[in-house]
Amino acid sequence: LSLFAVWPSAVPLVLRSGCLSMSTEKSVREAVGSCPVCGMDSRELLFEALIDNVSFAAPGAWDLYSCANCRCGYLYPMPDARTLDLAYKNYHTHDRSSFGPEPLRRSLAAKIRRALGNGYRNWRFGTQRRPATRLGVFVTHLAPAFRHNIDLAFRHLPRPAQGARLLDVGFGDGSFLLNAQEAGWHVAGVDTDPVVVGAAQAAGLDVRRGGIESFFDQQGRFDVITLSHVIEHVPNPVEVLSTANRLLKPGGRLWLATPNIDSLGLRCFGRHWRGLEAPRHLVLFGINSMRLALARSGFRRVRYIPRADATREMVRASNEIRRKVGGGQSGIMASRAMALGLLAAARVSPSRAEFINLIAFKD
Ligand SMILES: [Zn+2]
Repeated sequence: LSLFAVWPSAVPLVLRSGCLSMSTEKSVREAVGSCPVCGMDSRELLFEALIDNVSFAAPGAWDLYSCANCRCGYLYPMPDARTLDLAYKNYHTHDRSSFGPEPLRRSLAAKIRRALGNGYRNWRFGTQRRPATRLGVFVTHLAPAFRHNIDLAFRHLPRPAQGARLLDVGFGDGSFLLNAQEAGWHVAGVDTDPVVVGAAQAAGLDVRRGGIESFFDQQGRFDVITLSHVIEHVPNPVEVLSTANRLLKPGGRLWLATPNIDSLGLRCFGRHWRGLEAPRHLVLFGINSMRLALARSGFRRVRYIPRADATREMVRASNEIRRKVGGGQSGIMASRAMALGLLAAARVSPSRAEFINLIAFKD
C-alpha cells in the first residue's frame, strides 16, 4: 500500500497548508512527439513555462510533460544545443574539484569522527585510511545516518576482485573516482566538462571527455558502472543505459541515482521542487518508468536502495527556490515539520522518496 493513497489526511495540518494541489497545475494537452522512455506519444502537461530557477543561466521557459503511458516526465520540446550551452555555463563541477590537498580538520570531535569513519571505511570498502579505529565498525552500526553517508560516498561498492574495473559516467568533482581507486578498483571516468577532465588527467586518471559512448571500444570490460545524477541530463536515457549494459561484464552492476518524479516533495513544492531543474533535467523518472527504461536496456534484476537521507536537503533547496522566485517560503518550523513528514513518508513508501537509487545487474 502506498502511503500516498492516504495523503494528505495522514500528515499534520502544517504540512498540508504548504502543499500545492497538482490538479490546479495540470491540464491535458495533446501534442505530437514521443516519450524518451517508452516511445508513446500521448502525454499530459505537468508544469507550463518552467524557468531555470536554480542557476538562472539560460533564458527561456520549458514545459514539462508526463507520459500518459509510463509516467516519466520530459521537457517538450527539448531545449536546443545553444540553450543547453548557456544552461551549463554556471554549472561548475570544476569549482569543487577533489584533485588537490585535503583541508586540515583541527577540532577533537572532527578527529574522533574521522578515525571512527575511517575504521568503518577500511573494514567495509578495503581502504587503508589513517587514523582509524576498528571501533568505527561498531559505532557506525549504531549511527545509521553516519554509515549511510559513507556508503553513499562509495556508492555501495562491493570489495573488488583482482583487476576489477569501474567506470564513472559524469565524474564531476572526481571524489568518487578517488574513493573507488583507494578501495582497490581500477577506475575510468568520462565527463563533458573539459576542466574536470584536464584535472583528472593531470592526476594520472584514465578519463575521457564526452559521454558514455566514448568508451564504446571497451564493451564487456567493466565490473561496475556508476551514473550519479546523470541520467536525467541526457535526452536519450534508454540508449545510455543500453550502452552501460554493453560495457558491463556479465554479472556486472550498474549503480544509479536520480530525482524521483513521484516524490512527495514534488507534490508539496510543485514547480519549485529542486529536482525539476529545467532546462538541465530533460527526463525525470519514477519507479515505473525507471523499471521500464532498465528493462528496455537489458537489465532485468534491480535492487532499490532506500534514500530517505536526501529529504531534508530537498526541502531546504526547494524552499530557497520558492523564496528566490517570489513564491513565498515556509517558516523554519514549518519546513522542519515538512522535512520530518516527508522523511517519515519516504521511509514507509520508498517509491515516494526524493531520489531513486538502485543497483541493476547484467545477467
Ligand atoms: Zn513513456
